[in-house]
Amino acid sequence: MNLTFLGTRGEIKARTRRHRMHTSLLVSHRGARVMIDCGLDWLGKFKRVSPSAIVLTHAHPDHAWGLRNGAPCPVYAPQQTWQSLQHYPIEDRRLIKDRTPTKVCGITFEAFPVEHSILSPAVGYRVRAGRARIFYAPDLIFIHERKAALDGVQLYIGDGATVMRSFVRRRGKALIGHSPVRTQLTWCQKEGVPRAIITHCGSEIVNGDERQIAAKLRGIATERGVEVRIAYDGMKVKL
Ligand SMILES: [Zn+2]
Ligand SMILES: [Zn+2]
Repeated sequence: MNLTFLGTRGEIKARTRRHRMHTSLLVSHRGARVMIDCGLDWLGKFKRVSPSAIVLTHAHPDHAWGLRNGAPCPVYAPQQTWQSLQHYPIEDRRLIKDRTPTKVCGITFEAFPVEHSILSPAVGYRVRAGRARIFYAPDLIFIHERKAALDGVQLYIGDGATVMRSFVRRRGKALIGHSPVRTQLTWCQKEGVPRAIITHCGSEIVNGDERQIAAKLRGIATERGVEVRIAYDGMKVKL
C-alpha cells in the first residue's frame, strides 16, 4: 500500500507551502488510486490526481465540497453524508455501511462512526490492502468502537486540528469538535498502534513553529511508545 498525503490543511484560513490543500489522502495499491476526501480546495483540481474512486469521511466543506460540480469516478460515502450531498451532480454514488468491509477498487474500507459533528456525522476508515492495515480519521473527538477500529493497525492517521488544547464543545447530549493530538497518541498506546501520522493541521501547526511542535509531539509519543510525525502536502509513505 502506498500513501500520498495530497493535502494536510484543516478548516482554517492560513495556508503554507507545507499545508496548502484541504486534507486528502491517496491510497494506491496495484494500480488502484483511491482518494479519501475532496474538500473545496480540490474543486476543479482533483482531476490531476486521476482517482479510480473517491471515498468520503463526512460532508464538511474541507472534506466534500470539491465535488460540487460532480466527480469523474465512483464516489463512496455513508448514508448520512449522501443526505447532505443530495444536490451534487455526482452520477455514480456508492454506499458504505458502518462496520461493513467494502471493497473499493480492490482496497477494503470499513467505516467506524466517530464523534465530531451533529450536522455532518463523520466516520474514520480502517483501510486494508495486502498485509497493510491503517486507520484514517482526519476529524474526530473519539472513535466509538476504538478497540475494533485499531486492532492490528500498523499506522494511525489522525486529526491535527489541535495539538495540546482540547477543542470539544457540548451541544445538548452530543459533543462536537476535535481531540488533541496528545489524546490520540494515548489511544495508539492503549491499542498497541506503533506509528502515528498527523494530518488535517490546524493553526497551531500551520501558523506555529512546526519543528518545535514536532519535537514536543515526539516527546509525548515516545513516552507512550509510539512514533509520530506531522504530514505535509506531497508526503509519501510506503507500507
Ligand atoms: Zn475537517
Ligand atoms: Zn469536519
